[in-house]
Parts: sequence; structure tokens; C-alpha cells
Amino acid sequence: MKLIYLDNNATTKVDENAVNAMLPYFSEKYGNPSSIYDLAHISHDAIQEAREIIKDFMGAETPNEIIFTSCGTESANMAIRGALALNKDKKHIITTSVEHHCVLNLYKELEEDGYEATYISVNERGELNLEELKNAIREDTALVSVMHANNETGAIFPIAEIAEMVKEINPATLVFSDCVQVAGKIKMNLKETKVDFASISGHKFHAPKGIGALYIKRRVKIPPFLIGGHQERMLRAGTENVPYIVAMGEAAKNCMQNFDKKIEKITYLRNKLEKGILDNVYNAILNSKAKNKVPNTVNIGFQYVEGELILLYLNDLGICASSGSACTTGDLEASHVLRAQNVPFTALHGSIRFSLSHYTTEEEIDFVIENLPKVINKIIEISPFQKELKELKNKNN
Ligand code: PLP
Repeated sequence: MKLIYLDNNATTKVDENAVNAMLPYFSEKYGNPSSIYDLAHISHDAIQEAREIIKDFMGAETPNEIIFTSCGTESANMAIRGALALNKDKKHIITTSVEHHCVLNLYKELEEDGYEATYISVNERGELNLEELKNAIREDTALVSVMHANNETGAIFPIAEIAEMVKEINPATLVFSDCVQVAGKIKMNLKETKVDFASISGHKFHAPKGIGALYIKRRVKIPPFLIGGHQERMLRAGTENVPYIVAMGEAAKNCMQNFDKKIEKITYLRNKLEKGILDNVYNAILNSKAKNKVPNTVNIGFQYVEGELILLYLNDLGICASSGSACTTGDLEASHVLRAQNVPFTALHGSIRFSLSHYTTEEEIDFVIENLPKVINKIIEISPFQKELKELKNKNN
């Protein structure tokens, strides 16, 4: 059975180039970048080369604005804790109701520590309510955290416009953007924005799991996140993960090659999949409805059926998809993102996210379009909601 991997927002396959680029740093070029001899310089130079690439990938001004971390979660924690350390006297923090848990759960903890948090809502298309955000900014607002794209619906939030607005109302408020789900999907140009911090994670753009980066704007000087040696400009001590840093640089380089062509192909396949499902499955509704969204994501709610069951049937066909963010799969609670945009309760537990990459082929998408309706029909047959489904079928035909 051929594997059809449509869960690229959860993680991606590592590029062959990235694997080949990192292997020598395990076996031959294994020097500690902090040591003094030539072998160490090789590691040191490799890190600096990768930093240059990630600088271009994120659209930073200088390589010094890039700090290597272990993942997107660490980058977010470093940014948020760093921002609050800089704005010690301010106790109000803002974020959105649809952030990843690496931001939301940290905000919950900060609330327990005495911070007052405001969570900005989204509309029924999953777009951020900018007026609400504008009105929420106060004199004592230390930080605004707004993700660039949502992992479940792909909705893009206008972080450049948001940072501009925040700084105009309160220049001292710091802005962090979780850019994990835009890396490799849209071009980033952070130097042209007033965003102070931005995070990415290697495993979302064909680098290994366990490597990430944090962009910190040049003039923003935070205290160390990990205290120890002098690595990463003393902000994140600990011997660098040289092989993975090299791999992430290589993966970012690959992303930038033929970027427009790859995105055009992914967009075409995503749109084909979206239309193919909506046209052929009568109980399907579109959850990923934002006008501006990343090119690879489609989220569809299947009314009156159970998402976990759909995933199991798809798994039997070799198709990998997701019923929420990877971290919440297995949770009985419906996705906080879909609840926030008021997805009808009839579809909340039957929502599936398909996320493509440039490795996705048209043959794979055709296979899903052909087989998914059969899967849904099989599940509909055993659904306890026969009366509701019949009504829906009559209405939609
Ligand atoms: N932010 C977003 C939007 C994500 O989708 C994820 C991962 O799913 C993360 C942060 C966390 O990244 P990592 O797995 O590298 O910690």
C-alpha cells in the first residue's frame, strides 16, 4: 500500500539534501564549535552559514537576529519570557483565542502568576478581529502575541499591519509572532515589519524535528533564556546542535529554490482536493474559509460523523490526515480553533485537516477524492443521526 501523506502541518518528511548535508557533522566534522582547533572552526563556520540562510529565509536584516533553539515551542517561550522581562512593570498581555498551545498554555500560566490576559476573537471565517485587538491595547500592555498563520485552518493574520498598529498605540509594547506555519509557505520579510520576535520550527519545512529558530529584532535586548556558556550570543547557552542546524539551513535553502513554482503546484492541488470533497460529499462544509490563507491547508467538517473514525478508515487506505492539531488528536474535546470560529456543533467532531507539501502528487489527490466519499458514506451508514443526515441530503440535493 502506498502512503499518502497529507499531514504536513503536523510534521514533514526531511529533504534528502538536508539529510546528506548534516551527516558529516555526526561522523567527521564533529568538533565543538566553541573549541579552538580547525575541526571546531568547521562546525562554527557551518553554524554561521546556516544562520545567514535562515536570515534570508525569515527576511531578517542581519544574521545576529537569528538564535537557534530546539523547536517552535522553545522559541515562543523564549520570546514571551524575554519580552516580559523587558517590560517588567507592565502586567497586561494580549494574544488570540486560536494560538498554538505553546502560546496559550504559557499565557494560562502567566495569568496564574498575576498577569491579565486578553484573548482576541476570530470571525466565522477564522479571520482575526483587528478592531477588537486595537481596542485591547493599553498603557500597561507588555506584549502582543499573534500567530502568522493558524495550524488548523491555515488562516493568515496580517502581522505587519498588526505590529504597526500596536506600536502606534503603544511604542513600548513588544510584538511576537509564531511564524511556524508560514515558513516555506509564504515569503517572510520581517525586516520590513515592526515585529520584535518571530519563531520557526525546522520540522515544518523538511528539516528534522528538534531544531528551531527565533528572530529577535536588532534593537531588542532580552536577558538570557538558558544561562550557561556564551553560545547564541549568551541568550541560549548550551552546545549547539550542529548537524540539525546545518540540516535546517539546507531545508530552508531548498524551500527558497523554485519557491513560486512549488507554491503554485501546492495551491492547485489543495484547491482540487477542496473542490473534489465539497462537490462529492453532501455533509461536508468548509472550515478553512479565510480570504487569506496558506496554500497547503484545507480543513473540512463532515457533519454528524466522528472525525477519529474517518482518520482510522483513511489510515486503512494509507492516507495520513489529522482531526485537529497533532497535540490535541486523541483529546475528546473539540478543537479550540474551530470552536473559536463558531463551526456548527454538528461538524465540530467530524473535522479533518489535510495539509499538503511540494512532495504531494496529483495522483495522490485524485486517490483521496475518489476514496474519501466512499469512506464517509460507510460511516454515515452507521451514524446514529440518520434523520438529520437524510434532511441534510434532501436540502443539499
Ligand atoms: N506553533 C505552531 C503554529 C505549530 O503548528 C506548532 C507545531 O505544531 C508549534 C508552534 C510548535 O512547534 P514545535 O513542534 O517545533 O515545538
